[in-house]
Amino acid sequence: MRVKNIEFPIFKTKIDSSKKFDLTDFNQRQAYFDLKAGKEIKKLREYLKKNTFIVYLLGKKNSGKGTYAKMFKEVVDKDRIEHFSIGDMVRKFDEVVQDKKKRKELISFLEKNYRGFIPLEEIIKSLEKRSTKTLLPSELILALVKKEIAKKGRKTFFIDGFPRDLGQVSYSLFFRDLIDYREDPDIFVLIDVPEAVIDERIKHRVICPLCQTSRSLNLFPTKKVEYDKKEKKFHLICDNSECRGARMVQKEGDALGIEPIKERLKTDEKLIKQAFSLYGIPKVLLRNSVPVDKAKEFIDDYEITPEYSYELDKNSGEVKIVEKPWQVLDDNGVPCYSLMPPPVVVSLIKQITKALKI
Ligand SMILES: [Zn+2]
Repeated sequence: MRVKNIEFPIFKTKIDSSKKFDLTDFNQRQAYFDLKAGKEIKKLREYLKKNTFIVYLLGKKNSGKGTYAKMFKEVVDKDRIEHFSIGDMVRKFDEVVQDKKKRKELISFLEKNYRGFIPLEEIIKSLEKRSTKTLLPSELILALVKKEIAKKGRKTFFIDGFPRDLGQVSYSLFFRDLIDYREDPDIFVLIDVPEAVIDERIKHRVICPLCQTSRSLNLFPTKKVEYDKKEKKFHLICDNSECRGARMVQKEGDALGIEPIKERLKTDEKLIKQAFSLYGIPKVLLRNSVPVDKAKEFIDDYEITPEYSYELDKNSGEVKIVEKPWQVLDDNGVPCYSLMPPPVVVSLIKQITKALKI
C-alpha cells in the first residue's frame, strides 16, 4: 500500500479585530465562536435539522480527540450530536460481563450479531478473567458499536477510537451500512499533535485523590497552589470545597510521559497515514501547533495555550503564578506554540461545513 506523508496546513483563525477573549470562560467562548465561525455554525444547525453525518476521529492517544468533539457538540448542537468513544464502550462492556443478568442478555445479542474468527465462548471466557485489552477482536467491537448506536437513535456521531488498528480501516468503509445510514456523508478528521505536547500533558497531570478531578500543574492549575518546604515542590489544591483542601497527586507511571505508550503512538501514526491515503472520503486536517515564526500571521495571541510556573515570595510565603505562551518543539524540531482547543474547533467547524458542501 502507498502511504503518503501528510502535510497538515496551518489554519488561519486570526481576524481583524481588537477583541480579546478568555477562552476558558464559557460565555466568552460562545462569543468567540460567534465571531470566528458564526456563519458556519448557523449553516450546520440548519443542516442538522434534517440531516445527519458521521465523523471518524483519528489522532494519537491523548491527542485531545474527545475534547474537540465535545466542544463541537457544545457549540453547534447539543441534542443532535453525539460523541461516541469506543474506549468508554469497551470499559462499560467489561462491567456488563461481570454482571450475571446483563451478561446473559449480551450473549444472546452476540449470538445473533457477532461474526468473527474467534469463538464467542472463548472471548467471553477471557473477558471474565478481565484480560480484555488483548483479545477483543474488531468483529466483536463492530457488533457492540452497532448495538450501542442503535440505542441512541438517529443522530450525528463523532466516533472516537475507531478504527483502532490497521485492519479496521477497511471496516470504516462500510461502517455506514452497519448503522443503516447509507446516505449519510462521512468524514475522516485527522489530528496532528506534537508528541512533546502529549508527553508534557501526561507528565504534569494530577488528580484529586478524593473527587478524581484531573488538572495539570503547568497547563491547567487550580485556584490555589501550595509550596511544600520539605519537598521543595509546588502542589495544586483541589478547587472542590468538599475536598477540604486536598492536595492533587500524580498517577503512578505518569512521570514517564509517553515512554510506555511509544509503540502505541507509532501504530496510531501509521493508521493516520493510511487513513489519509484512502480515496473517496473527505478529510479534515487539524493541527494543534503553529510554528512560532508564523504565529503573528495565523493566530491571535489569546488562542495560544498558556503555560504556568510558580515562584515563592520569600517574604510573604505566598505562591506567585507566572503565565507565558506555551512553546514546544514539534516532531520535526520546529519551535511551536500549542493552541487551545477553541481555535482548533473553529478550524473543525469550517472544514466540516466545507466537506458537507453547505
Ligand atoms: Zn477534589
